[in-house]
Amino acid sequence: MSDICRDDRRLVWHPFTQMADYEDSEPVVVESAQGAWLTDTRGRRYLDANSSLWVNLHGHRHPALDAAVRDQLAKVAHSTLLGLANAPSVELARLLVDAAPPGLAHVFYSDSGSEAVEVALKIAFQYWKLRGEDRRLFLKLQNGYHGDTLGAVSVGGMPLFHGVWGPLLFETLAAPCPSCYRCQLGLEPSTCGMACADVLERLLKEHRGRVAAVIMEPLIQMAAGMLTHPPGYLRRVREATEEAGVLLIIDEVATGFGRTGRLFACEHEGVSPDVLCLAKGITGGYLPLSATLVTDEIYETFKGDSSRTFFHGHSYTGNQLASAVAVASLELLCREGFFWELAPKMDALRDGLAELAGHPAVGDVRRCGFVAGIELVRNRGTKELFPEADRVGWRVCAAARGHGVMTRPLGDVVVVMPPYCVTQEEVAAIVSGLSAALREVLG
Ligand code: PMP
Repeated sequence: MSDICRDDRRLVWHPFTQMADYEDSEPVVVESAQGAWLTDTRGRRYLDANSSLWVNLHGHRHPALDAAVRDQLAKVAHSTLLGLANAPSVELARLLVDAAPPGLAHVFYSDSGSEAVEVALKIAFQYWKLRGEDRRLFLKLQNGYHGDTLGAVSVGGMPLFHGVWGPLLFETLAAPCPSCYRCQLGLEPSTCGMACADVLERLLKEHRGRVAAVIMEPLIQMAAGMLTHPPGYLRRVREATEEAGVLLIIDEVATGFGRTGRLFACEHEGVSPDVLCLAKGITGGYLPLSATLVTDEIYETFKGDSSRTFFHGHSYTGNQLASAVAVASLELLCREGFFWELAPKMDALRDGLAELAGHPAVGDVRRCGFVAGIELVRNRGTKELFPEADRVGWRVCAAARGHGVMTRPLGDVVVVMPPYCVTQEEVAAIVSGLSAALREVLG
């Protein structure tokens, strides 16, 4: 075992990882990458089928992104945004406001998706306070995931990740997750989505005047296992929040920057939220950066004497290197024809996944644009899950590595989310690698 592997085991505490298991196996050490491929220290190559945890868009070592970092490095790496300005963060704000759904006019920077959400929650709470109202309830969706800081966990709904923190969290309301494969209301797919929206609407009415905001991931709740929403659900929520006079916070940390086949998922349903959270793909997967966009109305409410100040900020807020690479990435995404060129790759992904759906252990394949989840079940008819201890999702992903495909499961849902630079042949290679892994583990 190499020194890196030994010291990794000895010194590094990995996120979302049971270190007792991790220490039992030899880690893959990524040494370099190019396009959609990762190469480890032993020279083995893997297709990056989860875009390095959903952040990479244009591939690794993209010339325009590399150049953006290099050019910015020749000027300044970082200076504070507390009271000082810098050109890359201004240029990025211009592009974000132009590209975002209409009405979002101001950008607050932070460094991760969790922080973008934390900022959104604090802004929503203080917004109502500044208007003379004490609104401290947030309405969330069950199975939601918005990050790991305590505010973000409070509005999350994944017992495995969030259960332990219960005593530290603030009070929330939860509406059912509008995912039809396992309908929480026990209804048929054709009616379950709108029935879920009815429940949300009812909760808003029951708690009128007490809810600061509804927070949700649009179209697809990714971390919960790529749970797709029925068309029209997001629009219904927007209408319900407008009717109830409640802010709508949309968390596009994972769906943003093209993942769903449009620049932002909100565009699919013509929805403009009051607050929009962005992170992950914002820098094309190069550097940590996040942004919380708000309407003019919210921004103006905070103006006045010092008591109206939004007292929040981080050391690296508005970092120039991150902003510069985000500008370069957004310019690539906004190039005419970008999504037109992506379409045949999305079709290839759709067709490839349809082949995998034939395997007897595949209960459901859920896809939204260029992101998909393959749910593995013990019994397709009853949707019975495999016992958790069998770690089927993990075993399939581990086997896929042997076939040159790198991804990470969400429970027993195998994630397929390659960077946009993949070729159709590489999409086919991901599908055949996963297919071989499925056969190896489940027969
Ligand atoms: N919101 C959503 C929808 C996410 O999927 C995630 C991360 N998976 C986050 C927030 C948190 O982002 P980060 O890991 O950058 O803090």
